[in-house]
Amino acid sequence: MTSFQDLGLAAPLLGALTTAGYTTPTPIQEQAIPHIMAGHDVQGIAQTGTGKTAAFALPILHRLLSERKHPGKKGTRCLVMAPTRELASQIADSFRSYAAGSPIRVALMFGGVPKPRQARAMDNGVDVLVCTPGRLLDHLNDRAVNLGTVEFLVLDEADHMLDLGFIVPIKKIVSYIPKERQTLFFSATMPKEIESLAAALLRSPVHVAVTPVAQTADRVEQAVVFVEAARKRALLSSILKRKDMGRTLVFTRTKHGADKVVQHLEASGQPAAAIHGNKSQGQRERALAAFKNGSVRVLIATDIAARGIDVDGVTHVINFDLPNIPESYVHRIGRTARAGASGMAISFCDATERAHLRGIEKLIRARLPVAEPEALAA
Ligand code: AMP
Repeated sequence: MTSFQDLGLAAPLLGALTTAGYTTPTPIQEQAIPHIMAGHDVQGIAQTGTGKTAAFALPILHRLLSERKHPGKKGTRCLVMAPTRELASQIADSFRSYAAGSPIRVALMFGGVPKPRQARAMDNGVDVLVCTPGRLLDHLNDRAVNLGTVEFLVLDEADHMLDLGFIVPIKKIVSYIPKERQTLFFSATMPKEIESLAAALLRSPVHVAVTPVAQTADRVEQAVVFVEAARKRALLSSILKRKDMGRTLVFTRTKHGADKVVQHLEASGQPAAAIHGNKSQGQRERALAAFKNGSVRVLIATDIAARGIDVDGVTHVINFDLPNIPESYVHRIGRTARAGASGMAISFCDATERAHLRGIEKLIRARLPVAEPEALAA
């Protein structure tokens, strides 16, 4: 399995990733980062929730840090365009947190707020400018921004740009940017107009894609239970006592969490096994074999350990903790309802996990039905 170290990212970035709690690259990061580090243009198909922001931000920061240059007055070395102010602010926040402790400067521009402060932030030039296209055009017309020193151009959620009528402004903006640059282009879908915009902007791009995940979620009956963190173990134990609970996969966010759940279940007389990164190969194989042959009905896993699991007949997936990468939710619940069978996914959500839940609901474009703990328990 590739690690962030294997990808060769600069030390300050690795430090920031450790602080952020990222242990392993997501699939889009694993695919895109090496190409971007090597200087190739990239055309990526990926939705929000896949970790795509870090997939472009990390290698760009790596390159900005490895060759320091002054962008010049009102200039920027990297220009990122996003369709909405929310997305633009999230992207700027990501760049800032991954670059924490380094001299990288990030500016943000979007409409609906006064221009002068945004313009002043550009006076001495920045490393990264994140913006929505309309507001950037305004600043270009005011001569508050100079795009003549751009080395990296990123277009995020290009299909959404099309919906909002941004294609003409984008073409105008790009006409100010040197042709000698690296361009990264991300979109969840590639309708014809977007494909031709990509063709106009990119040079011999490498194509990367992560499977659109939203459909998987449709086949699984889902519910979220709001529960205090301290009550999760008791709730799990009482759900598992239900007669209709067949082969059940329980996900926790950490290895330690997985072990604690197993201990708790065993103490209450419910046999369970765990697989995670701290278990030896032999232990993992034995746990998986016991789960497959039915001698253990409940398997507790972390996301990474679960990647290789291929077991049919899982009737329930329980998210003991919600994942912070929304896409992981879809992968988790995809472990049930395989090969046309039906399945159910129950997610525990405590007060600290509300933001994860919102991210998941945005990715699957649906609200999860809320269930009361009493209705799920035996
Ligand atoms: P994005 O698709 O860029 O909106 O990212 C979705 C979420 O995943 C964000 O909350 C990120 O902070 C988080 N994230 C991105 N990459 C990783 C990773 N390698 N490990 C853990 N979390 C990540």
